[in-house]
Amino acid sequence: MSIYPIYLDYNATTPCDQQVVDAMLPYFSQHFGNASSKGHAHGWYAEDAVSQAREQVASLIGADPKEIIFTSGATESINLAIRGLAQKHASRGKHIITVSTEHKAVLDVCEYLQTEGYEITYVSVDQYGMMLLEHLEDIIRKDTILIAAMYANNETGVIHPVSEIGRLAQKYSIPFFCDATQAVGKIPVNATSDGIDMMAFSAHKMYGPKGVGALFIRKKNPLLEITPLFFGGGHERKLRSGTLNVPGIVGMGKAAELCQLLMESEANRLSELRDMLWKEIGAIEGVELNGENDNSLSHVVNICFGMEGGDKLIKMLSKYISVSSGSACSSAAVEPSHVLKAMGLSDAKAHSSIRFSLGRFTTSQDIRSAVEEIKNAVSRLN
Ligand SMILES: *Cc1c(COP(=O)(O)O)cnc(C)c1O
Repeated sequence: MSIYPIYLDYNATTPCDQQVVDAMLPYFSQHFGNASSKGHAHGWYAEDAVSQAREQVASLIGADPKEIIFTSGATESINLAIRGLAQKHASRGKHIITVSTEHKAVLDVCEYLQTEGYEITYVSVDQYGMMLLEHLEDIIRKDTILIAAMYANNETGVIHPVSEIGRLAQKYSIPFFCDATQAVGKIPVNATSDGIDMMAFSAHKMYGPKGVGALFIRKKNPLLEITPLFFGGGHERKLRSGTLNVPGIVGMGKAAELCQLLMESEANRLSELRDMLWKEIGAIEGVELNGENDNSLSHVVNICFGMEGGDKLIKMLSKYISVSSGSACSSAAVEPSHVLKAMGLSDAKAHSSIRFSLGRFTTSQDIRSAVEEIKNAVSRLN
């Protein structure tokens, strides 16, 4: 038996693993100290817990603990990296390269920087959502101060050629910032071998708590000096002032440790479930795959149902399955997904697309039940 509604929206957020919750709990009321209280045992205890979490998080991405800055989540890490670098290095140039299918957290920061006199160039993607490397090399300029490209796309799961981007960035001595929020903890990510200079990720996308994230910044590189977003106290190497969220950070550390342990078996199990889902749904007439299943996260599938009233389908399903639509509510209007549009889909096709994202607690029974509900809903709509 599946418990309805079935959660197939792990790319939006994941439940906290119970082991993560257990690790966090003592840090709310028992070990409540301020990690920057240097003069007493309460502070030391909290500081030790933060150090351990910093090691766990660094280990997951092949980094040195000194290269990890804790933040409130990926959105803050992205703002800190892109705005902070742009501000600090404006005298060297004001050109930034990013990709048309980035998360809004990246696109909106770039749009803001445009109002501050920065110039943004967007790398295009092909029909599968894969970014075009040749295009990237073409648009690099002398005054380019940053390349911002995501690791894996949150809507399609498509994995970009990150190490090749890293090599290009190195060849032209341009810092490479990567939003790896959907990749870290799901596939092997190694900041060093991938040639990444700065990287944002978030605890709540990898079975940790909401409201905590990290920014990796490669050490000892003057090109990577950044201006902080806020001031006061000088925490996190003066880059992120404010009392540390000790329970959240402990949770992120535990989540990172669990992901490192479970990543491979989880990816294999979920790819089987994803294939099972796609085999059944892909067989429905008029249904198409958005993106591809090869260079892609194994737990994500984005499907176009190719029908009028795709929004109706999602509404009908919402009682049974929690999924994401190919549309996003920006302000009041329902806009077709900018990712699907960049891949060449029409507004109608984007509106009738659904993202299914599976995770640690998805069972094969969940997929069987979901398939049944989808087939029922589609036949009622036809
Ligand atoms: C979820 C997500 C973000 C935002 O992360 P928060 O921690 O919720 O701020 C940024 N980028 C990608 C690719 C995401 O999936």
